Amino acid sequence: MRLSNTITTITGGGSDGWDLFIKARKMISQGHDITELTIGEHDIKTDTRILEAMHAAALGGATGYAMVPGIDALRHAVAQRLEERTGTATTPDNVLITAGGQAALFAAFRAALDEGDTALYINPYYATYPGTIRSVGGRPQAVVAEADNGFLPSYEALDAAATAAAARGAPAKALLINSPNNPTGAVYPRDTLAAIAAVAVKHDLIVISDEVYDTQVWEGEHLSIRALEGMAERCFVVGSMSKSHAMTGSRVGWLVGPEAAMGHVLNLLTNTNYGVAGFTQEAALFALGLGSAFEADIAAPFQRRRALAQKALEGQNAIRLSKPSGAMYLMLDIRATGLSGDAFADKLLMERAIAVMPGESFGSAAAGHVRIAMTIPDAPFEAAIKEIAAFSAALV
Ligand code: PMP
Repeated sequence: MRLSNTITTITGGGSDGWDLFIKARKMISQGHDITELTIGEHDIKTDTRILEAMHAAALGGATGYAMVPGIDALRHAVAQRLEERTGTATTPDNVLITAGGQAALFAAFRAALDEGDTALYINPYYATYPGTIRSVGGRPQAVVAEADNGFLPSYEALDAAATAAAARGAPAKALLINSPNNPTGAVYPRDTLAAIAAVAVKHDLIVISDEVYDTQVWEGEHLSIRALEGMAERCFVVGSMSKSHAMTGSRVGWLVGPEAAMGHVLNLLTNTNYGVAGFTQEAALFALGLGSAFEADIAAPFQRRRALAQKALEGQNAIRLSKPSGAMYLMLDIRATGLSGDAFADKLLMERAIAVMPGESFGSAAAGHVRIAMTIPDAPFEAAIKEIAAFSAALV
């Protein structure tokens, strides 16, 4: 079968960064007792009340083709939620329901890029970003956000990348940002967002803002770049029920953007997924109706474990916690051990049976770091952090 270049180059030819994860999973299947701090999935399951709403919706007949843009009530609820949180006028016509945030990312890039166009994204980055850009024929170009600058991107670096793309003859059309950030936990402050907006205006970029962790903020507040003056017209916002409501498997997310753009995106959705299951959409609607107290309950364990880790790492200097302001991860700076993130993670797995993600999996800017997902119960989590601290101390 002679496949397209687009599909055979989605991973870009390099490692996809998941080697350590796959190795750990293999060891677990062979019966090894491994503490897994690798992926961003809650240690709780979807709340029973949400499942009951899903069940009732299915029994009530929501099993046929659902409206392709999403059911009206859910589009309405998402619009209202965004408007309340960001103060930016949002109607159901700005909202399309997608199969998770990932499908919204794909749709946004499909809407923004033609074959060969450049899309800028920030390094370190969530693993699927470059592949999503390549899957629509775009050219991913990473822009480094320095560890020593709290993993925040700078105006200068973004401007230089957009200028370089234009000079190469493949102008940048889109810029992807993610705050609160996976993997770094950075929450972009207003001045960073203003700098990003200024670059977007200067180079006429569509900003794709991945805000799937918007309910997980431990310091400061979540600001959406769409709320900055003049930005709603050049922004797509990606949202999801996965992280905020522990509904990763239900595959309900959304894309928010200018009304005129959404008609075109709807044509894409009609010709790809043809809608999201009605009963999962009804479940999402019910879940949103549980309100912000429920969302705070889902987020609380991560805030608690972040505090446990801070405490457990006090008084040692082998590893530095780059204090995350949001999301369900910790980035540990392990450069003082002299090991790369890859080597550290491998040694930790083999010698202490703890699996963490090497920073390198998320791009060069996270080299010399490892990412810890705070997704196991408090007691074993705290024990694992202490074990990692002792392991690191023995290396320096
Ligand atoms: N963006 C980021 C930053 C993520 O971490 C994830 C999931 N890990 C997603 C998007 C996609 O999530 P989903 O498709 O489940 O909404």
